[in-house]
Amino acid sequence: MSPHRNRRTRVVRVDRDHPSPAAMADAGAVIRAGGLVAFPTETVYGLGANALDEEAVHSVFSAKERDAGDPLIVHISSVDSLVLVTDSASPTALLLFQRFAPGPLTVVLPRAAPVAPPVSAGLPTVAVRIPSHPVARALIEAAGVPIAAPSANRFMRTSATTAAHVLEDLDGRIDLVLDGGPADAGIESTVVSIEGKTVFILRAGAITAEEIATALPAGVTIGSPVTGSVAGSPGMLERHYAPRKSLTLVRAPSSLGRAALARELSTAIAAGQTPGVLVLDEDAATLSGLAPLIRGHLGPESDLGRVASRLYTAMRDLDRSQATELFARSVPPGGLGAAINDRLTRAAARIIGPE
Ligand code: AMP
Ligand code: MG
Repeated sequence: MSPHRNRRTRVVRVDRDHPSPAAMADAGAVIRAGGLVAFPTETVYGLGANALDEEAVHSVFSAKERDAGDPLIVHISSVDSLVLVTDSASPTALLLFQRFAPGPLTVVLPRAAPVAPPVSAGLPTVAVRIPSHPVARALIEAAGVPIAAPSANRFMRTSATTAAHVLEDLDGRIDLVLDGGPADAGIESTVVSIEGKTVFILRAGAITAEEIATALPAGVTIGSPVTGSVAGSPGMLERHYAPRKSLTLVRAPSSLGRAALARELSTAIAAGQTPGVLVLDEDAATLSGLAPLIRGHLGPESDLGRVASRLYTAMRDLDRSQATELFARSVPPGGLGAAINDRLTRAAARIIGPE
C-alpha cells in the first residue's frame, strides 16, 4: 500500500442497517490487502486495519500520527472469535461479554501470538471489543480477520463521529471511508481489565460503571477507576480528545458551574474575545444575554445520552467557527457523566475548580 500521505481516499455511502454486500466485500478486500478503512461504530468512527498484519497496523499509527505507545482495540464479530486474539479469557471476561456484547465494552485480555505486536504497543495484552453497529459487524465479517481500530481522527484530537469528521483529519491518508451516517453513542467504549476478583475501569465510556457493577457476580468488585497504579493502561493521556482551540473547563456542581461559566464568558468578552461555549439546555437562559458568543448546543444535562452523542460534533463545530477560545462546564458525575467529564477534562487546556 502507498505511504500514508498520498493515498486517494474513497468515500462510499452505506445504509446503516443494511449495508450493501458489494460495498462490504470491497471494504473487506481493502482490509485484507493491508489497507485502511474508516467505518462507523456504535461509539465513534474507527480506523480499521487487519490486526494480524504488522505493516497494516503500522500504517494506522502513521496515518493518525499516533504515538506507538498507545495500543489499539481489536474488533471481532462474536465471542467465538476470541480464540483468534487471546489464549485465555477469564470467566469474568466471558461473563462481561455475555452481558454487554455486542456493544461498547472493551476487555483487556492476554494477547495470542497471531495478533501483530504493535497493536498492543509492546504489552502482553490485547484490548478486545465486539461492536454492535451493523456496518462494523459487516466489515469484520467481510474482511474475515480481526480488525484493529482506534478512533478515526488525528492523534490526541477530538474523535470523529461522522464521515465528514474523518475526512477533516484523514483525507489523503487512508484508502476508504464507509459513510453510514453519524455514530450512535458519540463517545468511546468503556475499557476494562480484570485482575483476580477486581474489574478495573481503565477508561470510562459508553457503558457506565453502574451497569458493569450490576452485571458482576457476588465477590467480584469494581476497582477504583484510572489511577496511576493500574498496570497496563497506557494511552490514558492527560491531554487527549482536544480541540485545536484552547478549552477552559469549569468543574463544579451544576448551579455553581453555570454561574462560574457565565462569569468566565463575561470576562473573556470584556477582554475583546469572541468565546465559543458548549451549552447545556439548562444554562441557555443564564447565557442568553452574552454577546458576542458562539454556542454549540449539547442538549439537556438531564439526558446525558444526548450530551454524549453531541459532544464531539459540537466541539468540532466550535473549533471551525469564529470563536477565539472555548469554554464548557462539567456535568453531574453519575452514569455517562463519568465519561463525558473525563473527555472534557482531557480536552481542556485550563481547568477551573477542584481538580
Ligand atoms: P482509542 O482507540 O483511541 O479509542 O483508544 C483505545 C484505548 O484503549 C487506548 O488509548 C488505551 O487506553 C486502551 N487500550 C487499548 N489496548 C490496551 C491494552 N492492551 N491494555 C490497556 N489498555 C488498552
Ligand atoms: Mg482515540
